[in-house]
Amino acid sequence: MKTFVIANWKMNPSTIQEAQTLFNSVKEGLKNIRGLDKKAETVICPPFPYLSILSNIQDPKSSIKLGAQNCFWEENGSFTGEISLLMLKNLECKYVIIGHSERRLFLNETDRMINKKLKKVLEKKLKPIFCIGEKKKDKEQGKAQAILKKQLENGLKKINKKEIKNIILAYEPVWAIGGGKSCSPDEAQVMRLFLKKVISQKYSRSVANEIKILYGGSVNNSNVKSFIKEAGFQGVLVGGSSLRPEEFVELIKEVSKI
Ligand code: PEP
Repeated sequence: MKTFVIANWKMNPSTIQEAQTLFNSVKEGLKNIRGLDKKAETVICPPFPYLSILSNIQDPKSSIKLGAQNCFWEENGSFTGEISLLMLKNLECKYVIIGHSERRLFLNETDRMINKKLKKVLEKKLKPIFCIGEKKKDKEQGKAQAILKKQLENGLKKINKKEIKNIILAYEPVWAIGGGKSCSPDEAQVMRLFLKKVISQKYSRSVANEIKILYGGSVNNSNVKSFIKEAGFQGVLVGGSSLRPEEFVELIKEVSKI
């Protein structure tokens, strides 16, 4: 089974020229990794304004796919500032990140909104990367698993057994994002198994076995292997490291050796 490496560029870089250079550097770097297509699925999620140009320079045969960092749940109409799934599909996007903690925190995105977005992404046949994760305060108060369960159950409301198999779940402890302080593989594995248990209770054991769970939070080329080999995740969501092309290519090289 392929390992997912999802690059979340967030609100970077600042110019279209830099975005093209970054994309091309990764594209070139990956050409030298033998058999990569069978090993990994690399998804780059740039800011919306760069999707159009990157979809033009993307080689359809390359192992890099494009994804978006967000979407809206309506298809068109009076929704100022929003981006629909029809637009994303038209730009060759195959994946959409939904419910990232930064959107929950800075844009007040709620579980209800996330649920609506997930349902629309599934309806339009794109793959949602559904992010959940506890904050530092939740962890300190021993509430991490309760928070994850709530995010998961609310986000997956009215999503059936067949549909959930198309969701990629990303466990991203908020306290480990962006700070260079990643979660230990052991701790991450405990959470991965907990998420499987919740899915198994809500759906079935076979659904829980099938669902892909990724880890995100300060992943780099030195620790990526441990989250996949030791903690058993099916891939990683990468922020900071994905903006440094040499480091990001090294990270994918590590994944290709697993
Ligand atoms: C993220 O924001 O999804 C993320 C994982 O960021 P970083 O790798 O920088 O911690």
